[in-house]
Amino acid sequence: MNYREFYLQLVDPQNPVRFLPDGRDLTAPHPDYPDILMERRAAAALRALLARLDAFDKIIPVSGFRSQAEQQAIWDETMSSHGPDYTKSYVAIPGCSEHQTGLAIDLAANRPDIDFICPDLPYDGVYGEFRRLAPEYGFILRYPRGKEHITQISEEPWHFRYIGTPHAQIITENGLVLEEYMQEEEQNAS
Ligand SMILES: [Zn+2]
Repeated sequence: MNYREFYLQLVDPQNPVRFLPDGRDLTAPHPDYPDILMERRAAAALRALLARLDAFDKIIPVSGFRSQAEQQAIWDETMSSHGPDYTKSYVAIPGCSEHQTGLAIDLAANRPDIDFICPDLPYDGVYGEFRRLAPEYGFILRYPRGKEHITQISEEPWHFRYIGTPHAQIITENGLVLEEYMQEEEQNAS
């Protein structure tokens, strides 16, 4: 597995996870949440961005790396509590979740009563600064509004995906989603 294959892997309902992180390569991006893990390079980038904004007490991780069994459990629980429409909108099919790569993170404002499936990460203040700087640190907002017909996931203002630089900046500046970017990459390569 090379850098490109791992960090740029497209995971969506048509493209199951191909490359899993090595267990030894998982680490916690936020010191106060040692059980929420990401792939090492992604975790370091998130940690650096939170440190730059002095935001460890304001922006907190809600969900990071998930095993296949964990993704299945979240799917099953959400199905029974919220039904199929909601589940299909916000929970990826087990085997097809970016969280299984260790490259995705759900973030929330550090407030009481955080919703595990749809956490609240606002657009103003330090949260807006985080959003503005995220691409510089290799992160994209993976499920933006207006691209649901491509991503097949509802808008998720809390879900960030690490793909590294300069890819994250190019995608963000051009208003693309990863599906579109990878299609262009393939065309350029052929
Ligand atoms: Zn997520």
